[in-house]
Amino acid sequence: MPMIASQGLEKELDMIRVLLLGGTTEANQIGRALSAAGIAGIYSYAGRTATPVPQPLPTRVGGFGGVDGLASYLKQERITHVIDATHPFANQISRNAAEACATTSTPLIAYLREPWIETLGDQWRHVDSFENAASALPGRPARIFLAIGRQHLAPFAAQPQHFYLLRLVDVLDTALPLPNAEIVVARGPFTLEGDLALLRDHGITHVVTRNAGGEGARAKLDAARTLGLPVIMIDRPVLPERRTAQSVDEIMRWLTQSACLGV
Ligand code: NAP
Repeated sequence: MPMIASQGLEKELDMIRVLLLGGTTEANQIGRALSAAGIAGIYSYAGRTATPVPQPLPTRVGGFGGVDGLASYLKQERITHVIDATHPFANQISRNAAEACATTSTPLIAYLREPWIETLGDQWRHVDSFENAASALPGRPARIFLAIGRQHLAPFAAQPQHFYLLRLVDVLDTALPLPNAEIVVARGPFTLEGDLALLRDHGITHVVTRNAGGEGARAKLDAARTLGLPVIMIDRPVLPERRTAQSVDEIMRWLTQSACLGV
C-alpha cells in the first residue's frame, strides 16, 4: 500500500505475521487489505461451508483444538498479531482467541460490526437465546422466516406446528429437525426488493433472526418493517473485554502503529 510505504514502515511491517480469524465478509475485506499492503498473514476458516471464498492470503481450514491448540499454533507459526473478524455469534472462537492471546502475550484486535438498532415501525421482541426465540413463537401454526443459519435449528423442533423458511449458504447435508420447512440456498448481500419478494412469496408471518449487524443481511429487517411483520431478535452473546475496531482502516492503523511501537 503506497500510503504505508511512504511512511517508511516497510521494515517494521516485514516483522508482522497476522493470524486472521475469518469466515465473514469483513474478514475477506481485511484479508484483501493485508495482501494489498504486503503484510504477511494467514487466513483461518473453521471449515463450515463447502465453498469458502478464495483468499489472497495463505489459508488454513479447521479448528485449532481449543485455547491450548490455538496458543500452540500462535507460537509455532510465530504469529505476531491476531485479528478476530469472526461472526458476532461465533463466541467460542472469540473467547478462545482472547484467552490464547492473553496467555501468549499476542496483541489481539476484534472487528466488531455495529449491531442493528430498532427504528420506528419495527416490532422487535428481544430474546437472549435460540431456545427463548423458539418459545417466543405463537402456539397457533405460523409461517416463520428462520434466518439463523444452520447450526441452531434444534430448539425449533419443539414448535413443529409451524412452516419454516431457511436461507442457507449451502445445501444441508444432514436431515432437518423441522418437519415442515423449505430451504433457499443464497449468499448475501441481500436487497430490500429481494427480501420483500421472499417474505411475500412464502406468506411469512414472523421473522426470527440474530443481531448479526452489518449491511449484507439487514434487508430482511427492512422488509419485515415494510410488511408490518413481528421480528424475534436474538441478542448478541456477551464476550470478554477486547480491543475492538469497526472498520478495516482502523484495523490497518492499529497494525501499523503496533509495528512502529514494536508491540
Ligand atoms: P464458534 O462456535 O465460535 O466456534 C466453534 C469452534 O470452531 C471453535 O472453538 C474453533 O474450534 C472452530 N472455529 C471457529 N471459527 C474458526 C476459524 N475462523 N478458524 C478456525 N477455527 C474456527 O463458531 P461458529 O459459530 O461455529 O462459526 C464458525 C465460523 O463460521 C467462524 O469462522 C465464523 O466467522 C463463521 N460464521 C459463523 C456464523 C454464525 O452464525 N455463527 C455466521 C457466518 C459465518 P477449536 O476450538 O478446535 O479451535
